[in-house]
Amino acid sequence: MEKMQKKLGFGFMRLPMKDGQADIPQTCDMVDLFLRRGFNYFDTARGYLDGKAETLIRTCLTSRHPRESYLLTDKLSGNYFKTEADIRPLFESQLTDCGVEYFDFYLMHSQCRENYDHYQQCHAYETAFALKAEGKIRHVGISFHDTADFLDQILTEHPEIEIVQLQFNYLDYEDPAIQSRLCYEVCRKHGKPVLVMEPVKGGRLTQLPEKARKILDELHGGSNASYAIRFAAGFEGIKMVLSGMSSIEQLRDNTDYMTDFKPLDDRERKALSEVCRVFRGMHLIPCTACRYCEAGCPRKIHIPDLFAVLNARQIYSDWNGEFYYDVHTRNGGKASDCIKCGQCENICPQHLHIRELLEQVAEIYDKKAE
Ligand code: SF4
Ligand code: SF4
Repeated sequence: MEKMQKKLGFGFMRLPMKDGQADIPQTCDMVDLFLRRGFNYFDTARGYLDGKAETLIRTCLTSRHPRESYLLTDKLSGNYFKTEADIRPLFESQLTDCGVEYFDFYLMHSQCRENYDHYQQCHAYETAFALKAEGKIRHVGISFHDTADFLDQILTEHPEIEIVQLQFNYLDYEDPAIQSRLCYEVCRKHGKPVLVMEPVKGGRLTQLPEKARKILDELHGGSNASYAIRFAAGFEGIKMVLSGMSSIEQLRDNTDYMTDFKPLDDRERKALSEVCRVFRGMHLIPCTACRYCEAGCPRKIHIPDLFAVLNARQIYSDWNGEFYYDVHTRNGGKASDCIKCGQCENICPQHLHIRELLEQVAEIYDKKAE
């Protein structure tokens, strides 16, 4: 497998923004610094950044640096093909948009019970391996969001899969729904190397509730993100931890502690267990703000933002929730506008009961507005 120079990858999913668009000069600076510091792994997908992530990869990375200086991962997302015949043209357009002739890794995106049959019926795995044989993909893998027994099923049915991308972070490690540990153990059983996504759980492990922040502050001064990323990177067989960095400061911090990576020591691990206890006591909605659910919502509800409002209410009891609820519903539906079509739940990688949760949001914020 190609040389992944260090265990930190740059996810083109949450870039720095300016006036509602990705900040290209800052992203170019980040890419340059990342490479200069000896890191070389980049990850993207067609749907990221409102469908602009692949062309941003071309603008900021591939048109500016030699092909051998980086590794690039892209994904086959289920909502961009209807039939087997759609896959090759889609793939070719991804190569063109990214400005490359091959991908180092190509993943069947977000595999779960809801979409696996679609990939099977369209012979997506077979097509990806045919593209590999043609030299257009170096390695084929999956990214995965479901239970460990289903991962076991996929890896048994497709032993040719070379690598697995998992949601893996200290809060989800023992979570009964996400099953990070159990999924990781399935990968180990099947001898598959692991790529990590969501190591900071969509930013939730960087913006800690005060009680949790105090626990980490008592360590040696590392950033909240540093403990989360080092937690994930410390496991055997984990090849890469992705970070969706959205400022050059974040990139500097991440590359500082990952240049000479050291796994967590006992004291740090114990502190993270205490942070988990704080989170569990708060009963927060485990939304990672991936925004997969938003595109198909017929009522244009900004679902993750409304969940963030409710979570913030839990974390900061005196917080100005009504104001922010108003901000997030100005250009989108209210929670009570939900018609319960269920589209969002079919696509949510966290398997959230979005309709029920929106009822809770509506109960608090729409009632007050009446
Ligand atoms: S169930 Fe509600 S929130 Fe989900 S897609 Fe349908 S209208 Fe939107
Ligand atoms: S509700 Fe689910 S799909 Fe929507 S942003 Fe949150 S985690 Fe992603």
